[in-house]
Amino acid sequence: MSQKIPDRKMMYGGGWHSALDGATFGSVNPANAEVVAQVPLGGAADARAAVDAAHAAFPAWSRRTAADRALLMHRVADRLEAKREEIAVTITMEEGKPLAESRNEMRLTIDSLHWYAEEARRAYGSWIPDPVPNRRLLSMRQPVGVCGAIIPWNVPAAMITRKAAPALAVGCTMVLKPAEQTPITALLVAEAFLEADLPAGVFNVVTGDAPAIGQAMLGDERVRKISFTGSTEVGRLLLRGSAEHIKRISLELGGNAPVILFEDSDLDKAIPALCALKFLNAGQACISANRIYVHASIHDAVAERVKAYVAKLRVGDGMKEGITMGPLIEAQAVEKVETLVNEARARGAELLVGGERLTGGTYARGLFYAPTILTGMKPGMRMAGQEIFGPVAPLFKFESEAEAVVAANDVPYGLAAYIFTEDMARAIRVSERLETGMVGVNDVRIGAAEAPFGGVKQSGIGREGGREGMEEYLETKLVAIRVDPGA
Ligand code: ADP
Repeated sequence: MSQKIPDRKMMYGGGWHSALDGATFGSVNPANAEVVAQVPLGGAADARAAVDAAHAAFPAWSRRTAADRALLMHRVADRLEAKREEIAVTITMEEGKPLAESRNEMRLTIDSLHWYAEEARRAYGSWIPDPVPNRRLLSMRQPVGVCGAIIPWNVPAAMITRKAAPALAVGCTMVLKPAEQTPITALLVAEAFLEADLPAGVFNVVTGDAPAIGQAMLGDERVRKISFTGSTEVGRLLLRGSAEHIKRISLELGGNAPVILFEDSDLDKAIPALCALKFLNAGQACISANRIYVHASIHDAVAERVKAYVAKLRVGDGMKEGITMGPLIEAQAVEKVETLVNEARARGAELLVGGERLTGGTYARGLFYAPTILTGMKPGMRMAGQEIFGPVAPLFKFESEAEAVVAANDVPYGLAAYIFTEDMARAIRVSERLETGMVGVNDVRIGAAEAPFGGVKQSGIGREGGREGMEEYLETKLVAIRVDPGA
């Protein structure tokens, strides 16, 4: 089902702009290879123009009251509410996830704006008890300044407000670069900011050449902070680049989430949760289940039940009614999944279901890979150490709690982990020992506007969401004041 979406310009300084050199590129629907629409292919000069706008807007925006900024942000949320379905459809056309998942994403997109609008009114500083007579110590909170944000394609709308809402709420301004796969979604979200009459330059979106725009942000002293979500590889590059001007930086990078099903798991709850997590967005999420550790005593039962779940999945174009899993984002992604599955099989893993591209018929022009289950997985296999980012559930057997924890921690990443057990002491003990930023216990829904989301080790620096997410955009300033004793 193809639908025509108009070409779009990028948005900065309160208006719509073509690339300064007029270049454009197309965003492509992974379900059918059709071009969704054309957008400007901006570069360094376009990024600088957007930073000019954000820099010019910063003084007035940061001096407004938090309550005033909050009102405007609630208004952006209302505009997004009005565009909810249009944006959800665009997400599905650009990114491929089923429409129901895109609609869910819009909930978080809007909620982040409301929550941070409220929270910014509580960005308190403090009076500090002073050891020196006739002096007072005041710690005040101030916005960092102009922020650069770079986001990936897999959560193309919610990721925008996860970064922009806390930044704008505390008085920062922002230049955001969406992923090249999902620019139209970002430009529709940007339109909501314009319609809400946010002052020109407070929020800006530049589409185009990632390295050129990234370098322009890094090289510009006026950009005081970078917030990035994406691969560890690009995160490392940005961390290095931010050294030149000592920019603040927060990074949400790759994960390699372990899921541990202990022998006392309640499988009626665990299996639907595990499978929902694994096949959400066709496995293309940084918090997706990457390694599934199953206690030997329940292994075969778990494998059978996951297989039964997979049999009910309906793969296809996410715009079609009843589809529960969409395509992968690009050809390279399909190739990577294929390589990982083949390598595991060549080294002894057993294929329970799937293990192939879906081609022909309605799959002919899309990038579909069958939901796949592998058993007999071993630690040395590539899939154990690498993020799959595809619909493959690899099952590893374990015998003891200690063994499972060691295996779970045996990767350089540490974003999310999940455990299933009915033993509360074990749930707490294992949560403490897992080297990750987040742990789901008998639940896989770990995200909320209120919750600090982020990783440890090579999964990132900083948190997004919750109070911690606001801290990322605040500086602390000490003001020491002489107070004469008086009469
Ligand atoms: P993924 O593999 O999920 O696409 P990437 O890290 O490649 O992850 O992309 C995430 C975001 O980073 C995208 O917006 C992409 O355009 C951007 N990006 C990619 N390379 C660079 C770069 N060299 N500098 C700045 N941003 C980049």
